[in-house]
Amino acid sequence: MRMKRNWVLPIIVFFLLVTMLSGLYLSMTQEAVAQNRKRYEYIAKNQSNIIRDYFDVIMARAYTLGALITGSNGDVAIFDQAAEQIYLETLNHTGVPLKNIAIAPNGVVEKVYPMDGNEELIGFDFMDESKVGNEEAIAAYRQDKLLVTDPFKLVQGGVGMAGRLPVFLAQNNTSEFWGLVTVTLGFDAFLKHFELDSLSKAGVNYELWYENDAGQHVTLAASPNATVDPVHHSFSLLNLKWHIDVSPSNGWTGFLEIAVALSIILGVSLLIALLLLDQAHIKQTNKKLERLVHLDSLTSSYSRHYVNTVLVNQRNGRWNDPNSKYSLVIIDIDHFKNINDTYGHEVGDRAIVAIAQLLEDNSKSENGDCVIRHGGDEFIVLFNNVSRERFEKKLRAIARGAENIHFTDYPDLHLTVSMGGDYYISPEQSLYYDMVRRADKNLYFSKECGRNQFVL
Ligand code: GH3
Ligand code: MG
Repeated sequence: MRMKRNWVLPIIVFFLLVTMLSGLYLSMTQEAVAQNRKRYEYIAKNQSNIIRDYFDVIMARAYTLGALITGSNGDVAIFDQAAEQIYLETLNHTGVPLKNIAIAPNGVVEKVYPMDGNEELIGFDFMDESKVGNEEAIAAYRQDKLLVTDPFKLVQGGVGMAGRLPVFLAQNNTSEFWGLVTVTLGFDAFLKHFELDSLSKAGVNYELWYENDAGQHVTLAASPNATVDPVHHSFSLLNLKWHIDVSPSNGWTGFLEIAVALSIILGVSLLIALLLLDQAHIKQTNKKLERLVHLDSLTSSYSRHYVNTVLVNQRNGRWNDPNSKYSLVIIDIDHFKNINDTYGHEVGDRAIVAIAQLLEDNSKSENGDCVIRHGGDEFIVLFNNVSRERFEKKLRAIARGAENIHFTDYPDLHLTVSMGGDYYISPEQSLYYDMVRRADKNLYFSKECGRNQFVL
């Protein structure tokens, strides 16, 4: 039972420590993850702002061209003078070469710059509803505003995104549809400009994507490794809605880091629990040693040392426990020398042990009673808080008990004891050493008067 109890505290401490420390660690980790997600939100927003700004600047070229057409009242000749300038200015300003700039009176392409590689565009009718890819052009005309297409495959090769701007001319107090101006950017060159790769290199996984008209998820650009539980940000490019997802390439919380931290927590908790366990063992061993010092080796009764160090203040003979009310008796085996001489020392020892057991049987340690081997064949028994009648009854029982001790291998061996007692009166009048002196005197009388009796 005692062994088990010693385990309980270390085990409780171990589990408490593990729970508390890992709880603390995990809440700190969560806090760190929340802060990290905020950082990634900033990265996503910042990246999308850069994309949108460039996109707006490029698509604004359509307004420039549209204004020129309006200013010249629909004279297409203005295009020949302005197109190259617009093209070069866009390249210088944004670093993105345009695929083409075109004008389409009544929706049919008449002029395109540069002509090289764009020849097939001449004559293309943007207002022809039967042709795929004309939705934005027709919608732009209907809504009277600049609309852009999703990235699409260009006739001249590669992927592009085009802005379609309807131009209306004021005529006779009404505005009449003149046609369209279109600006097409090369999507790859556009993306390359943002160097999204550098995000990957900085340990950020990303995906730039949009949902097409069919509701499908279309990836525009992505890091080699997919995002995990990403921070999401949506942004508008005129009529389009794009999305950017970002997450750290080594995860929000490093698995290895958590494993190491939890191992350290387990290790430290175990160490503390083992130290506690060790301390419990040391305490237990100390108690055992203390008992050994205080017990007589032959009889296991308390030793004189126990009385002098634990029960009594040696300087003044006062009882250390102020609540104790001890009556005291000294018991001495009669003619013990004879027993030793007749049966041998070993049998003498057995007789001493038997008397010790008899005294133990006639006292109650739970009441504070105490059996002490005073020396040789002499014992002291302390009876705590007993009436005089009970005290005498005890002494009679001891005397009778001694007479009744038999050794089957030595049927002729008989024991008697003489006793001198001192009944408790008051703390002042019942100091230990005084009681022993009086009891010893009574023992002497008891011997003198023929032994096998008690004197009080
Ligand atoms: P009395 O009736 O007057 O007490 O006579 P007695 O022979 O018992 O005399 P006393 O009490 O003086 O003798 C005690 C003897 O007990 C002396 C000693 O040899 C013996 N003795 C003391 N310690 C031990 C012990 O541990 N074992 C044994 N066998 N004998 C012991
Ligand atoms: Mg004796």
